[in-house]
Amino acid sequence: MTALRIAVIGSGPSGAYCAQLLSEESESPIEVDVFERLAAPFGLVRYGVAPDHPRIKSIITSFTEVFDENPNVRLLANVQVGSDITLEELRNHYDAVVFASGAPADRNLGIPGETLDGVYAVREFVSWYQGHPDSAPDAFSLSGKRAVIIGVGNVALDAARMLAHTTDALRATDVPEHVVEAFAASTYDEIVVVGRRGPAYAKFTNKEFIELLEVENCDVVIDPADLELDPAQQAHADGDPAARRLLATFAKAAARGTLGRAKTIRFLFDRTPLACVGDGSVSGIQLAKTSNPTEVETLQTEVVLRSVGYRGQAIDGLPFDERTGTIPHLDSRVVDDAGHVPGVYVTGWIKRGPTGVVGTNRRCALETATSILADTTAPGWVSHGTSADEVDRLLAGRGVHVVPWAGWHELAKAEYAAGAALSRERVKLHDKDDMLRAAGLPLNLNAQMP
Ligand SMILES: Cc1cc2nc3c(=O)[nH]c(=O)nc-3n(C[C@H](O)[C@H](O)[C@H](O)COP(=O)(O)OP(=O)(O)OC[C@H]3O[C@@H](n4cnc5c(N)ncnc54)[C@H](O)[C@@H]3O)c2cc1C
Repeated sequence: MTALRIAVIGSGPSGAYCAQLLSEESESPIEVDVFERLAAPFGLVRYGVAPDHPRIKSIITSFTEVFDENPNVRLLANVQVGSDITLEELRNHYDAVVFASGAPADRNLGIPGETLDGVYAVREFVSWYQGHPDSAPDAFSLSGKRAVIIGVGNVALDAARMLAHTTDALRATDVPEHVVEAFAASTYDEIVVVGRRGPAYAKFTNKEFIELLEVENCDVVIDPADLELDPAQQAHADGDPAARRLLATFAKAAARGTLGRAKTIRFLFDRTPLACVGDGSVSGIQLAKTSNPTEVETLQTEVVLRSVGYRGQAIDGLPFDERTGTIPHLDSRVVDDAGHVPGVYVTGWIKRGPTGVVGTNRRCALETATSILADTTAPGWVSHGTSADEVDRLLAGRGVHVVPWAGWHELAKAEYAAGAALSRERVKLHDKDDMLRAAGLPLNLNAQMP
């Protein structure tokens, strides 16, 4: 019996769960090839989830088992779908193609001055401190007095914590050593987190806020006046237990006051960003009171991180909903104006938008796997997939250096060795060529040219 052949594009949580569920749920033989454009797998679990959240990152152990225990699930990392291999080629070689490619772009604030030097999407900051190979090692120098973060979600708090952590706390994570050094040399002693609405509407979780209160040598400042809720906020809090819990923790933080610590994280609620100002580089941000727009203030700052959401990107040859930044689908089957796009499916953030925790992607992937298995066992369905060898030959013929699962193991070993050399547990390799070398691959030919 020929095996059902599936290509999954992206090795983040949604792709890894999808590969796992397909291989568990299929009643007939199945081969799953997981394509990943980076040399390292696991998407935002490696490059998004905060370095000081090892418990959440430990989901990697269970994703690792998917590849370790199923020889029919292969990793083809360092392969960019769209340039190294096209969607049409994948459709010819596989019975089904699943896009699990995430949401790698950002939403803007849409205000003047957003393109000044020093104004970044928080994604750029996160990518830098996580050692993402697309981010230059020296992308951030952290010389300034006050950093401003626009947005009150969990990612905004991740960024604030990272700016506030002590060097010892950072050395306990896996961030690259040059990132630890840059944070150690940081001159930012105030981090201001700005929310458009009142504190009852803050989007981060109580757990994340409590973690902020536990950051060593850092004061967290909440203005007690902000906690006197207007009727709309009060009604919202009355109907939302999570908001009530958070408000109770805010009240404790406000009562604690400041303790004269080295760094301060200050919350400014009810503020709408009007413009980033500066001559070439940002020197301030203009904020209006949302509840009274005539009250305007300019906050001096040397860096603004806008943390207002990630966004999906269009894939060549597939429909795209510009409004939501997702690929349109029905029960995970990609649809365009003419109806289904046969054999093409979606899962994860590119399907539902950038919301939810890692585990949300399991439920999402289950729907995708269920649709694929229903379609490929329907009466009249005919397999047209080719073979692993044919795909390998196509890529090799094009000079694409694939990092296989064994190569990722070698890369991971090199990161533990780099950590041991610095008396740290693990240190991520940041540079793409270093990653490829550690994975046992020849360097990309362009990089070798004099
Ligand atoms: C900063 C941040 C912190 C977070 N922290 C937490 C947390 O603490 N707890 C929690 O539960 N959740 C957290 N999340 C959410 C969680 O990371 C997401 O729910 C999850 O990663 C989404 O999974 P995904 O597979 O859809 O996308 P991703 O994880 O982004 O994976 C997509 C993968 O596809 C690859 N890819 C894209 N295009 C191509 C292509 N053309 N060819 C080949 N490969 C491609 C990408 O390189 C990437 O590896 C966080 C998210 C962010 C951004």
